[in-house]
Amino acid sequence: MSATAFKLEAFECQRCNRCCQQPGRVALTDEDVDRLADFFGLTPYAFTEDYCDLQGRHRLVLKKREDESCVFLAVNGCTVHSAKPQQCLDFPKKWRTEKSYSYCEGLKRLWPKA
Ligand code: SF4
Ligand code: SF4
Repeated sequence: MSATAFKLEAFECQRCNRCCQQPGRVALTDEDVDRLADFFGLTPYAFTEDYCDLQGRHRLVLKKREDESCVFLAVNGCTVHSAKPQQCLDFPKKWRTEKSYSYCEGLKRLWPKA
C-alpha cells in the first residue's frame, strides 16, 4: 500500500459540502440513474429529463446551479445521500485532484500544509 493510500484509510468526511460545489460535473453510470430514479419514484427517462444534462453525445451528468453547486445539495448536505452517484461515494479515497487538497476539510486534516 502506498503512503498516500495508507493515510487515506484514516480519512473522515467533515461534512463541509465543498466537494458538491466544485466546477467539475458528476457523471452518472446506468446503475446510478436506476438507483436515483427509484429514489424519486421516477422512470429513468423522467429522472434524466429532470435532473441531468448531456455532456458530449453520451455522458449523463447531474445538473448544477448557477453557483456551481449540485442540484441535490441543500443546506444540510446531500438530499440523495442513500442513492448518491458512485463518483460521489468514491471521493476522495478513490479519486481526487490536486485542488481537492485545498478545499476538502477531511483531506486538509490529513495533509495540513498541502
Ligand atoms: S449528489 Fe449529493 S454528494 Fe453528489 S455532488 Fe450532489 S449533493 Fe454532493
Ligand atoms: S469536501 Fe471532503 S470533507 Fe467536505 S464534504 Fe466533501 S468529502 Fe467531506
